[in-house]
Amino acid sequence: MLGKLARWLRVLGQDVIYGEHLSGYGLIRAARAEDRLILTRDRRLKQKQPPPFILIESDRYREQVRQVIDTCELKIGAAIFSRCLDCNALLQDRPKGSVRKLVPPYVFATQEKFSCCPVCRKVYWPATHHQRMLEQLKEMGVL
Ligand SMILES: [Zn+2]
Repeated sequence: MLGKLARWLRVLGQDVIYGEHLSGYGLIRAARAEDRLILTRDRRLKQKQPPPFILIESDRYREQVRQVIDTCELKIGAAIFSRCLDCNALLQDRPKGSVRKLVPPYVFATQEKFSCCPVCRKVYWPATHHQRMLEQLKEMGVL
């Protein structure tokens, strides 16, 4: 339910674990084991004596992002676009020559900077999707 929130927090460079398996006591155990803050919409979680958590108020992801940024006083800075949006790993810079076979020819011809996820191998480049995300973050009032 908070998948979009998780993705947007990763866009901002936050270390976010998300998955179907993270609910109820599984969520609490995982948060304790890794010393993480829980983000949840589950009002009953409180009764389970969880570690620190934020109860997400809205069901709209833009408001959810704002709530987390405000509550945690997150600073939006250099960490933006530093993580894989799918698996949360920190991206590694890749020399252009090494991604020739991994990206569409048009992208290879027009882009200079590439990074790669060490876990899922997804290749990222700034181009248009960074621009679109920055615009959306501005609309959210985050930038
Ligand atoms: Zn990845």
